[in-house]
Amino acid sequence: MADTKLCEICNIEAATQKCSQCAKPLCPKCAKEFIMQFGHPALSIKGHEKAAIGRVGREKNYYCNTCLENLEVPDLNF
Ligand SMILES: [Zn+2]
Ligand SMILES: [Zn+2]
Repeated sequence: MADTKLCEICNIEAATQKCSQCAKPLCPKCAKEFIMQFGHPALSIKGHEKAAIGRVGREKNYYCNTCLENLEVPDLNF
């Protein structure tokens, strides 16, 4: 048990993820899954297609409540 980190949000569950932003250990219940979708037309900047190609797809991250609220998400306006 010594190596088991407790979730820093609830302090009850064992942490299995960590926040991608602040690196706080998070349990599955407290980790907020956030899927960032790349390759959306809104994210393509003219002249930077090559830079964008490598990032096409989805990136799944986990965040704590605080970081999710403060997350800077590109304004997609779906
Ligand atoms: Zn938790
Ligand atoms: Zn966080």
